[in-house]
Amino acid sequence: MAEESSKALVVTIDGPSGAGKTSVSKLLAQKLGYRYIDTGALYRAIALAARQQGVSADDESGLAELCLRLTIDLKSSDSGLRVILDRTDVTDAIREPHISMLASAVSAQPVVRSYLLSLQRALASKKNVVAEGRDMGTVVLPWADAKFFLDADPRIRAQRRFEELRGHNDAPDLESVEKDMLLRDKNDSTRAVAPLEPASDAIRIDSTRLSLQQVVDCMLDHIRRIP
Ligand code: C5P
Repeated sequence: MAEESSKALVVTIDGPSGAGKTSVSKLLAQKLGYRYIDTGALYRAIALAARQQGVSADDESGLAELCLRLTIDLKSSDSGLRVILDRTDVTDAIREPHISMLASAVSAQPVVRSYLLSLQRALASKKNVVAEGRDMGTVVLPWADAKFFLDADPRIRAQRRFEELRGHNDAPDLESVEKDMLLRDKNDSTRAVAPLEPASDAIRIDSTRLSLQQVVDCMLDHIRRIP
């Protein structure tokens, strides 16, 4: 049941992988009756397109041409958010571990970030959104009404990622999940453009010892106090 539908707010949730952003953003959006925007899915879709079309992550002009050619859409459905790349549903394909790493590599390219900047802003333009990513509060939606930065102990984050991937084909073991996750976080935090970092006015939440419900309650508490 949506509880704050009278307020038209923009809410951002940034943080490293495995901090719980996706579960938290989905539940928060549901509680507020807002739309959930998964911006990582957009970077993943570009990574998948690059792989399919043989464009390397360091080929700036190839990526620029690719971005001009492709269309990406996020569609709500009964089974959750669907990611549509050039009219094909790629929701499952973009979750493969090798696409995670490639998404991090293509996301460091300014040409990719500037292409996705306008798409993300268009998706959030009607307000009533919870947008999840790495630079939502700092670069894409700096005017957001509520900004959160969600983090957790690396070992716990790796464990959560591992649980998510369990059951997939070729699911990696915990050690490689943690190694890949730390490498991805390092790439995301040290890139020159829009690195992963908390906005100066973001509320920081450490989810290491908190349940999903406790994190969402803490966010709702803050949102309720917005005039
Ligand atoms: O959130 P998710 O793990 O799906 O994101 C995949 C990759 O996309 C991240 O590792 C990051 O490199 C990139 N990303 C980004 N900016 C965002 C969202 C995701 O750079 N706003």
